[in-house]
Amino acid sequence: MRIAVFSTTPYDRRFLDAANVAGDHEIAYYEPSLSVATAPLVGEADAVCAFVNDTLDAPCLERLARGGVRLIALRCAGFNNVDLKAARANGIAVARVPAYSPHAVAEHTLALILTLNRKTHRAYNRVREGNFALDGLLGFDLHGKTVTVVGTGKIGQVVLRILKGFGCTCLAFDPYPHPDVEAMGVRYVSKAELLAQSHIITLHCPLTPETHHFIDEAAVRACRPGVMLVNTSRGSVINTRAVIAGLKRGVIGSLALDVYEEESELFFRDHSAEIIRDDLFARLLTFPNVLITGHQAFFTQEALTAIAEITLANIDAFARTGQPVHPVPVE
Ligand code: NAD
Repeated sequence: MRIAVFSTTPYDRRFLDAANVAGDHEIAYYEPSLSVATAPLVGEADAVCAFVNDTLDAPCLERLARGGVRLIALRCAGFNNVDLKAARANGIAVARVPAYSPHAVAEHTLALILTLNRKTHRAYNRVREGNFALDGLLGFDLHGKTVTVVGTGKIGQVVLRILKGFGCTCLAFDPYPHPDVEAMGVRYVSKAELLAQSHIITLHCPLTPETHHFIDEAAVRACRPGVMLVNTSRGSVINTRAVIAGLKRGVIGSLALDVYEEESELFFRDHSAEIIRDDLFARLLTFPNVLITGHQAFFTQEALTAIAEITLANIDAFARTGQPVHPVPVE
């Protein structure tokens, strides 16, 4: 098939070319993100390969369908950026990569917790400048702390196993309790209990109407004072304004983010020579107890290999049978 890849980075090209080593597909790479404005780039393509911050709304999908596109192959798990009704109306199938490496995201979550707690990012800079003072670098033992995992799916379960290894008391919150989690000796608790009890709360649920602003003003008010909040799920699971207010009051002791509500304007691009116009994001950067990475939790060799291979498996299957391996049910 002829595939147009949007939001291409050098690593997308490297891993997709490796997965297409037999040359079964003709792949054209485009750096711009996909929207109705950039949709004409597809040319003669049969399939479009898109990522988390591409905008596949109705006008974009109509334009793609007019150009002959029959498949959207998302190289990610989430599909909240695709208008599925419009995809169906335009006869376009949608495929995704439902799982690639839960370890990649879980291990990054622990990297954030350990960095934020022991301040290794600050220590690194100090030592390079010959400053060996320890004041300001004080952390706490993870051992014995109460940590709640919100969303005990593939990633949440790996996080729980790692935290158990640190000797944490683990709690869980999920409307669909998992027997494997209970078998680990982890107790499911209510939202009120998790907020009251947790030294650390780490979010691993999908973004849905139910989880949108799960951490809001009321939740911040109900938190154990000094809580560490970690979000590697989707930005809008927390209300950024409410969390900033909590940080200013000291209720939230520290915050680690790999995702941000308005990240599509910022992440995956080099803006280092520009002014950041997002005042909320700029405010977050001023806190010494806030650590932000730019949606990189998935970014391991194993995950990128799996993403590329599963994306091309979806496209292969669609070319042969008209159905991808991992379809997103179009409404
Ligand atoms: P999963 O589907 O295996 O697990 C999600 C879990 O969340 C399920 O157990 C589900 O029951 C639970 N859940 C659903 N609604 C909930 C609610 N209202 N409250 C609490 N829990 C709820 O998904 P996964 O593979 O573990 O991924 C989890 C999330 O991580 C994804 O949805 C995605 O947003 C995010 N993610 C981020 C990155 C990254 O690079 N930062 C990469 C991959 C995935």
